[in-house]
Amino acid sequence: MADTFRVGRAILVGDSAHNNNPSGGMGMNSGIHDAANLTEKLIRIRNGESDSVLDDYARERRQYAIESVQLYTDQQYNNMVMSEEEARQKRNKSLAETAADPAKARAYLLRASMLEERI
Ligand SMILES: Cc1cc2nc3c(=O)[nH]c(=O)nc-3n(C[C@H](O)[C@H](O)[C@H](O)COP(=O)(O)OP(=O)(O)OC[C@H]3O[C@@H](n4cnc5c(N)ncnc54)[C@H](O)[C@@H]3O)c2cc1C
Repeated sequence: MADTFRVGRAILVGDSAHNNNPSGGMGMNSGIHDAANLTEKLIRIRNGESDSVLDDYARERRQYAIESVQLYTDQQYNNMVMSEEEARQKRNKSLAETAADPAKARAYLLRASMLEERI
C-alpha cells in the first residue's frame, strides 16, 4: 500500500497504489473503481473546483483499499485454501445456497464486483 495516492499532480491508481493477493479477484475491480472516482474528481476540477478534490480521491480510495479490498481478498483467499473437511463443507453449502437464491446471488455479485458500496 502506497503511503499516499497523491503527490502534487502525480496520482496513483490500481496496482501502482495498492497491491493485493490476486486470488481474491479484487485488483482489477478496485483499480477500475479508483479510476471512476478519480475521473469524477477530474471533471469537477475542469468545471472550476479546486484541485484539493484530488486529496479527497487519495483519502477515499486509500481508506477503501485498506478497509475493504484487503479484507475481501483475505476472506476470498482463506475460503479457497481451507483444508479442514467440515469447514469446506460449510463453505460449499453456503455458496450453493447463495447461487440458488437469485436475490442472494445478486447481492453477492454486487459486493464481489464492488458495485454495492461505490466510493
Ligand atoms: C494471476 C492473476 C489473476 C488475477 N485475477 C484477477 C481477478 O479475477 N479479478 C480482478 O479484479 N483482478 C485480478 N487480478 C489483478 C489484476 O490483474 C490487476 O489488479 C490489474 O491488472 C491492475 O491493473 P493496473 O492497470 O493497475 O496495472 P497493470 O495491469 O499492471 O498495468 C500496468 C501497465 O503499465 C505498464 N508499464 C509498467 N512500467 C511502465 C513504464 N515504465 N512505462 C510504460 N508502461 C509501463 C505495464 O507493462 C502494464 O501494461 C489478477 C492478477 C493476477 C496476477
